Amino acid sequence: MSNPSLLILAGDGIGPEVMTEVRKIIDWYGAKRDVTFDVSEGLVGGCSYDAHGTPLTDDTMAKAQEVDAVLLGAVGGPKYDNLDFSVKPERGLLRLRKEMDLFANLRPAQCFDALADFSSLKKDVVAGLDIMIVRELTSGIYFGEPRGIIKEGNERVGINTQRYTESEIARVARSAFELARKRGNKVCSMEKANVMESGILWRDVVTEVHQAEYSDVELSHMYADAGAMQLCRWPKQFDVIVTDNLFGDLLSDAAAMLTGSLGMLPSASLGAPMENGRPKALYEPVHGSAPDIAGQGKANPIACILSFAMALRYSFDMGTEADRLEKAVEDVLADGLRTADLLGEEGVSPVSTSEMGDAIVAKLDASL
Ligand code: NAD
Repeated sequence: MSNPSLLILAGDGIGPEVMTEVRKIIDWYGAKRDVTFDVSEGLVGGCSYDAHGTPLTDDTMAKAQEVDAVLLGAVGGPKYDNLDFSVKPERGLLRLRKEMDLFANLRPAQCFDALADFSSLKKDVVAGLDIMIVRELTSGIYFGEPRGIIKEGNERVGINTQRYTESEIARVARSAFELARKRGNKVCSMEKANVMESGILWRDVVTEVHQAEYSDVELSHMYADAGAMQLCRWPKQFDVIVTDNLFGDLLSDAAAMLTGSLGMLPSASLGAPMENGRPKALYEPVHGSAPDIAGQGKANPIACILSFAMALRYSFDMGTEADRLEKAVEDVLADGLRTADLLGEEGVSPVSTSEMGDAIVAKLDASL
C-alpha cells in the first residue's frame, strides 16, 4: 500500500510557526512508528497572493483534490485587509472548502483537566469534557437563494433563505452517526422544528437515517436554543451534536469557549469518501493568523497539533496513534508547561512555540 499523502498549507502569520511543530510530530511518526507520510507543501492565503496574485492557485487546488488530507495553518493579516474581496486570503480557504465539497465540519470541545480553571464555567462542569459538534458547512442560510437587500416601498429589506434538501441533511447525519460509533455512541440533533419548516424536515430526515442505518446509536432531538442553554448548564450530557450551518456556527463557538484558549482548538472538515474510502478532508486549527504575535515564537502550536491528531483518526484510521498524540499533549499540560496564551497561574513563565513542540515530541518518545 502507498504511504498516506498529506498536503501542508501553512499560510500566513503564525501558520508557518505552528506548522513547524507539526512537522516535528510527522517526522517522529516516520522515525519511531514506521508511519511515513508523503508530505507536499503549497501556498494559501496572503503568501499565495504575494507569490502568484491569487490566494490559491489552480495547481494547489488540484493537488488538494488528489491527496488523502490537507492540513492548513491559518490565513490572513492586516497587510491584505484592503485587497479586493475576490483575492482576499480567506477566499483561498473558502475555495478549498467549496471545491472539495466539505459538508461536515467537526469541532471537538475537549477540556484537558490541567486547563479546567481556564473555562468561564465551574471546574466540575467542564473537567473531562469531550464533545463533538458536527456542523453542516456547505448549505443552509449562508448559501440559500433568494438573498440580498431589496427595496420595498420606502425601506430596504434584507433577505436570506434557509434551504436544505433531504440528501444534504442525510449525508451530514450519517457523518454524525459514524462519528458517534467511534466515540460515546450518542447523537443529539439540534434544529428549530417548532418554528421552521426546514427544522421539521431536518428532524424527519435525521430520524429516518437513524432508523434505517444507525439504530444502534442513541439519538435525541433538541431545539437549538434549548441546546445552547444545555451546553452552558451541563455540557457533559452530550457526545456528538449535529446541526445546521447557522446554528452550528453559533453552538460550536460557544462550546469551544467552554474549554478555554483559542490556541487549543482543532477542527476537521470532511466531504464524501474518495475512491480509496477515505473522506475528502481538510484539518485546521480554529484560530486565525494572530498577527499580533506572529514571528515572536509565542504561538501555541497545540491547536494545529491536535488537528493533525484528528487527521490520524479520521483520515488514516490510526485511532491508537491519535490517542497517543492527544495523551502526549495532555501530559505536557499536566507537567505545567504553558505557552503565553495559557498563562494564568502565578510564578509560571511561558514556553516558546518550539519548546512546546519539543516537549510533546519528548512525551511521544516516553510513550514507547
Ligand atoms: P486570531 O484567531 O488570529 O487571533 C485572536 C487572538 O487570539 C489574538 O490575540 C491572537 O494572538 C490569539 N491567538 C490565536 N491563535 C493563537 C495561538 N495559536 N496561540 C496563542 N494565541 C493565539 O483572530 P483575529 O485576530 O480576529 O484574526 C487575525 C487574522 O486571521 C485576520 O486576518 C483574520 O481574517 C484571520 N483569520 C483566519 C482564520 C483561518 O485561517 N481559518 C480564522 C480566523 C481569522
